[in-house]
Amino acid sequence: MHVLIKGAGVAGLTAAHALVGRGAAVMVAERTHGFANAASWYAGGMLAPWCERESAEETVLIRGTAAAGWWEAALPAGSVHRNGTLVVAPPRDATELRRFASRTSGYRWIGAEEIGALEPALAGRFREALFFPEEAHLDPRLALSALRQGLEAQGTVFRGGAIEEGRFDLTVDCTGAARIGEIKGLRGVRGEMLYLQTYEVSLSRPVRLLHPRIPLYIVPRGGGLFMCGATMIESDDAGPITARSLMELLNAAYTLHPALAEARLIETGTGVRPAFADNLPRVTRQDNTITVNGLYRHGFLLSPAIAEELAALALGAELKRGNAR
Ligand SMILES: Cc1cc2nc3c(=O)[nH]c(=O)nc-3n(C[C@H](O)[C@H](O)[C@H](O)COP(=O)(O)OP(=O)(O)OC[C@H]3O[C@@H](n4cnc5c(N)ncnc54)[C@H](O)[C@@H]3O)c2cc1C
Repeated sequence: MHVLIKGAGVAGLTAAHALVGRGAAVMVAERTHGFANAASWYAGGMLAPWCERESAEETVLIRGTAAAGWWEAALPAGSVHRNGTLVVAPPRDATELRRFASRTSGYRWIGAEEIGALEPALAGRFREALFFPEEAHLDPRLALSALRQGLEAQGTVFRGGAIEEGRFDLTVDCTGAARIGEIKGLRGVRGEMLYLQTYEVSLSRPVRLLHPRIPLYIVPRGGGLFMCGATMIESDDAGPITARSLMELLNAAYTLHPALAEARLIETGTGVRPAFADNLPRVTRQDNTITVNGLYRHGFLLSPAIAEELAALALGAELKRGNAR
């Protein structure tokens, strides 16, 4: 089966990986060189189904729990860090921690001593926290690059520009926010983020700082680098971070640890999360085109499950066509 995948973000690359793994011949069309236009490039890379369940439907938890294992099988050893997630709140926002806990599962309450044992940099800074031991994280940029390299090594061709779709048995459209205005109900949720670098703070796992208005998370990337995110703004504007968002994210980072005020601001970025009204992804088929979209804030968490569903749908259809012959 010859498949054209449009879009080399996390949806397109995971779909390619699943299809190639089942024997399909895949070409990937990407309109830009590199990943800079993909929301996937700006992601935190948190594989955090229990934390996300706080604001997401149960299906996100159910489909997301296998994500870490899928990524471990797909990426070089050591790419997935299974160190859990720590959720903290300043004492004045302690009710936020209770509200968060009441809306999900998969955590245990820990006190100051255990917080300090897990993350020595945070010793003495928080009285209590929620620890989600089963959660994991990865570096999205390394993951995307590794998936692409692995696919190329197996013969998958990557192309820019327009491609004649008629010569493929199937087209898989994974173009994300580019389809806003074309797919009914698809909207953008702007996410601004930044990278800080400091050797004064060391973390082993994503830390989420709850706040009624400006929640923050910090994901360690190694080498003193931290991804800090992210805003959630109802907009498909992919333009540079605003001064307000930058100030708010930096303020929150400073609340988490004052030493972050001395960190170097390495990069700011914006990604547009493609989302439907229910914030759940959709896989739809029309003739020889399957469209995967609406991964919202769960691209790395849910695309493994979606890619496997898609591959079964695509190759199941081929099987039916083969039987009819
Ligand atoms: C700040 C931020 C933090 C996030 N953190 C997390 C997280 O921690 N965990 C998690 O699971 N998710 C996270 N997400 C969500 C995740 O990044 C998205 O769900 C995911 O990137 C969507 O992937 P996608 O492949 O559908 O779209 P994209 O990554 O946007 O990829 C679409 C690709 O299609 C290309 N394209 C568009 N039109 C065409 C065309 N006509 N032909 C060819 N190519 C085309 C684009 O150039 C782009 O490369 C985060 C998102 C943001 C913005």
